[in-house]
Amino acid sequence: MSANLIHGYEVVIGFETHTQLTTRSKIFSRAATAFGAEPNTQACAVDLALPGTLPVMNRQAVERAIQFGLAVGGHVSPLSIFARKNYFYPDLPKGYQISQFEIPVVQGGEVEFFLGQEKKTVRLVRAHLEEDAGKSLHEDFVDQSGIDLNRAGTPLLEIVTEPDMRSSAEAVAYAKELHKIVTWIGICDGNMQEGSFRCDANVSIRRPGEALGTRREIKNLNSFKFMQQAIDFEILWQIEQLEEGHKIIQSTVLFNPDTGETKAMRTKEDSADYRYFPDPDLPPLVVASAWVDDVRAHMAELPRAMAARFVKDYGIPEYDAITLTQTQAMAHYFESVAKASSQPKMASNWIMGELSRKLNAAHLGFEACPLSALTLAAMLSRIADATLSNNAAKVVLEAVWDLSPDGLEPLAWIDRVIDQKGLKQINDTKALEVIIDGVLSANADQVEQIKAGKDKAFNALIGQVMKASQGKANPKDVNDLLRAKIAAL
Ligand code: ADP
Ligand code: MG
Repeated sequence: MSANLIHGYEVVIGFETHTQLTTRSKIFSRAATAFGAEPNTQACAVDLALPGTLPVMNRQAVERAIQFGLAVGGHVSPLSIFARKNYFYPDLPKGYQISQFEIPVVQGGEVEFFLGQEKKTVRLVRAHLEEDAGKSLHEDFVDQSGIDLNRAGTPLLEIVTEPDMRSSAEAVAYAKELHKIVTWIGICDGNMQEGSFRCDANVSIRRPGEALGTRREIKNLNSFKFMQQAIDFEILWQIEQLEEGHKIIQSTVLFNPDTGETKAMRTKEDSADYRYFPDPDLPPLVVASAWVDDVRAHMAELPRAMAARFVKDYGIPEYDAITLTQTQAMAHYFESVAKASSQPKMASNWIMGELSRKLNAAHLGFEACPLSALTLAAMLSRIADATLSNNAAKVVLEAVWDLSPDGLEPLAWIDRVIDQKGLKQINDTKALEVIIDGVLSANADQVEQIKAGKDKAFNALIGQVMKASQGKANPKDVNDLLRAKIAAL
């Protein structure tokens, strides 16, 4: 941890993430949840809090919470309680938000991810169900604000971590991993621009070994880039405050992307300010263990389990397996290539390297990869049987990337491209010897130097042979033959 000190301070971060759940109707009413409708066309009497209306729990929302609990290895509580969180704001017609306070539906669990090559675990405190509020609209009005209640009552799962993160990079990596999990299991569409996945970052600093410092909570971070910028700014701001002899005051702050700064919006309320109490309109939420079992039985293989299986079945490193299970599409692509080529490590290298680079540049995911898994597998088998060098394979990849095989089988297609472009690796020793002899006789003084023990000159000769073969020689063969020939001189 000491590696992470900034001006002698340790950074402590905990996250609260609001994920909008992918249910068609709201958490306590039958109004639709679709994004982008005309204001106030998707708010029914319950969402408007008209007198006499009562909330009715949406079973799908509970099911999503159970799925999440299972995905992070948390405890799905057999009984949980809805509570009223009381506050006044124009976008909250009831004057309170229905949430869960003392007993949330999911308790504990953890999120594991890699930060660079280092494995990190962030513990979760809880995940609870609650309703979203409406939205205040300020832009289109002069001297007044509009209220859009379409969002009021949209189901949220609020996921709360322990203060386990120690840098902005770790916090962003956690948020990305959480985003991956909720979209993978399909409980959230993950659309950050539309507010489907909103993170609050609680940030404090302390001298190593001291008790936790006072935190400030940066609200509603809805892009990973802003998240990083906001936390970085906040850390330096807090350090400056302490260095100047000020105290940090617990507060809620907003990030302004235009200035890159965080700014206090209000001093933080205590939970006592919210006067929580159990909602008398809703019975305790009971989740029978049979329901949990049923959800478990129908869940897709989770990223962590799939990564562990990739390590076991294909013998690839854990780092590769975690990277390849970023999305279901990427994972399935890898598995198809690994199976069809019987070259799992090679498949992993190409998918994490060249293919990811090309897809990123085109802003595409693996679900839209123009190169079919079978074509890539065919190309890998030509590397494996030494027909192609790695460099020549990159040329083949360019050539086949977004073309169609004209009815050819993948392997026949790859072979045709290798032929047309003259990329076949020289595996014929005779042909290679001719090239090497040529290079040796043209470089008598280099040979002298090598004989005198200067290995730098040897590498230079390898380079020359590779160049003379137009990159088609097998580098290992070149190395072996060249050594043998020089030794025999
Ligand atoms: P509240 O009830 O006010 O929301 P919680 O105790 O639930 O406060 O904590 C909210 C979030 O803040 C959690 O993610 C927690 O890990 C984090 N947190 C708590 N204390 C600190 C601290 N000193 N520094 C950074 N994060 C903190
Ligand atoms: Mg909280």
